[in-house]
Amino acid sequence: MMTANTDAIIIGGGVIGCSIAYHLAKAGVSATLLERGEIGMEASNAASGILSSISGGAGGAYTRLVNASAKMFHTLAPELAEASGVDIEFAQCGELLLALDENEATALYAATMEGESGEDAQWFTAKAVRDMEPALSESIVGAVYTPEVCRLNNQRLSAAYARAATRLGATVREHAEVIGLVRSGLRISGARLHNEEFSADHVIIAAGPWSRTIADAIGGYLPVRPVRGVNLNLQPVGGSIRSVVHGGWGLLVPRNDGSILAGTTVEEADYDCRVTAGAVQDIMNMSEQIMPSLRDARLNWTIAGLRPGSPDDAPILGAVPGWDGLHVATGHYRNGILLSAITGSLMAEHIIGKKPKLIEHFSPRRFKGA
Ligand SMILES: Cc1cc2nc3c(=O)[nH]c(=O)nc-3n(C[C@H](O)[C@H](O)[C@H](O)COP(=O)(O)OP(=O)(O)OC[C@H]3O[C@@H](n4cnc5c(N)ncnc54)[C@H](O)[C@@H]3O)c2cc1C
Repeated sequence: MMTANTDAIIIGGGVIGCSIAYHLAKAGVSATLLERGEIGMEASNAASGILSSISGGAGGAYTRLVNASAKMFHTLAPELAEASGVDIEFAQCGELLLALDENEATALYAATMEGESGEDAQWFTAKAVRDMEPALSESIVGAVYTPEVCRLNNQRLSAAYARAATRLGATVREHAEVIGLVRSGLRISGARLHNEEFSADHVIIAAGPWSRTIADAIGGYLPVRPVRGVNLNLQPVGGSIRSVVHGGWGLLVPRNDGSILAGTTVEEADYDCRVTAGAVQDIMNMSEQIMPSLRDARLNWTIAGLRPGSPDDAPILGAVPGWDGLHVATGHYRNGILLSAITGSLMAEHIIGKKPKLIEHFSPRRFKGA
């Protein structure tokens, strides 16, 4: 069996693994990324691409993580375009959080007035909503508008990170499934493929919800689980939208090609990644309520992905307890696209021994059994 040497191995080529590869390469660390399929084709491909915290571990450290990452994209987007040649279609488009009835309007209005919806959030009356987005339903009572929310094309993001990493000297291997970790005593010193082995000082598990299985094989504990989400890509007829629109449990996101992503379900379905008829029906019901003309939209495509969920909905980052040389970056749940920037940067600092303070809050040590 052939063995190749590298400083760091990254297992998994979703947005998280690819961002880590990019930030490590930028820091001059020789990195090899191993992806069992093709780059960015799992949850990272199915996402909506909004850079706004939908949900996640509450608390100060999580908010700091989210805010820092959102800010990074303003410089990262042009940097990645230059470094990779890939335009990730980053745009500051703002977000409307709709009140669909009087009760919701009262609660959202109060939250906006008390500053709970963010510093720049503004209350929009029904008329202001319709003036801004004429295609939305006339029954909308009002909305909170958050101008700083951005979106990007997540179906390009993993490739952009990976290509930029490669140009900086990283090795990115597709169709390279890791079937085991190489260990000597309590040290993890590499990863095993079907007919090849890689050895490294650092091995980083960034395999989304499959991270758990990789850790299980050595008796490690990474409590991450798959949470299915479905998105529909719709071609609107007549008017479209400019901002991200949240209403009820649903979400409409405009894309640069004129289509709209409508989603997203949150389903505990183990590793079953099908788009069910029920999910399509639920999303269409929600979409029509917000934007009635979507009933006549062309259904371009549907997609499902498995979000890596953790027990407290916050990411799991840093050294895996009990093992030397083994690290993890997963559990980003509903915000992995948004958090990819800060995750890559923090993990690179962690690997080169800079001990970034923020990462400590997300250590796998916080879970019983770790
Ligand atoms: C419908 C939906 C909408 C979403 N919307 C948003 C959004 O708007 N904004 C946002 O910030 N986030 C969003 N998310 C969440 C976001 O997509 C995820 O948090 C993020 O993609 C997770 O990235 P990842 O790299 O950890 O996982 P993945 O993308 O799943 O990547 C893991 C990779 O590891 C590989 N792998 C697994 N096992 C092995 C192995 N043994 N060897 C080698 N490779 C392996 C897989 O093939 C896969 O490519 C959404 C998710 C979904 C499903």
